[in-house]
Amino acid sequence: MPSSAIDRIVELLARSRNTVVVTGAGISTEAGIPDFRGENGIYRKLGEQKVMNIINIEAFRRNPGLFWEFYRKYFMFPPVEPSKAHRILADMEKRGTIKAVVTQNIDNLHQKAGSRRVYAIHGNADRFLCTRSGCRQVYNTAYVENCPEVVPTCEECGGILKPDVVLFGEHIHHYLDARDCIVGATVLMVIGSSLTVYPLAGFVKEFSTFYQDLIIINKGRTELDHAAAVKLDTGNTGDALEEINNRLVQAI
Ligand code: NAD
Repeated sequence: MPSSAIDRIVELLARSRNTVVVTGAGISTEAGIPDFRGENGIYRKLGEQKVMNIINIEAFRRNPGLFWEFYRKYFMFPPVEPSKAHRILADMEKRGTIKAVVTQNIDNLHQKAGSRRVYAIHGNADRFLCTRSGCRQVYNTAYVENCPEVVPTCEECGGILKPDVVLFGEHIHHYLDARDCIVGATVLMVIGSSLTVYPLAGFVKEFSTFYQDLIIINKGRTELDHAAAVKLDTGNTGDALEEINNRLVQAI
């Protein structure tokens, strides 16, 4: 782990009063969930366009059977536990080192690890909503897995269920809160995101236009490496955060 980058990150976090963390799929690969763009990612296997054409709100409305067949095969995550990185971020929030996490992930692992202020802007893959107007029933993964039909339906009204995740063509959740949180931070630490997915990448870009203290921890390049005060290139976010957190705890 390059110690100069770690030194600089510790220095920035130690003097920051409002650090916000942005996470992407890369923080969950260590928990066992592949990212989309990496070697085992679905975009590499099937092509980004094919995925976008199906994981799309219009496609869901037009042909729920096709959507659900694809979703069940590629998007139902295996049950996994939070990684070391998720747990350390929860600890950093408890200690007051970070104020919030804004995540693109839909795996619920930050919440499971104990983080409290989490804006999951792409939703939660462990929740399924009845789409029949006025019904509002919510189901979990076990219910959907046990449904005998490919297209799961509501046991109350028979309506079709939709994963509570933001499909292409839908608005993100917590738009204003997430943007305000990011742009109002004094230090922003991005972990495991290529920063290619909008609007989140746009919020980070907006932050980096006005402030210097952008930290990026990611394996490989991101779209905003040029704007970072410090970039740590690593495929082990758990070890990196552990070292950073230990150094901050000792410094207090
Ligand atoms: P991305 O796939 O664009 O970028 C992930 C980045 O993480 C890549 O640059 C990759 O090199 C890096 N990375 C992978 N493993 C890493 C590791 N161990 N340590 C450090 N870096 C690592 O992901 P994204 O920008 O988050 O966007 C993809 C979209 O896919 C998002 O909208 C998200 O909702 C969704 N997604 C979510 C999950 C999840 O919930 N776990 C998983 C896959 C995709």
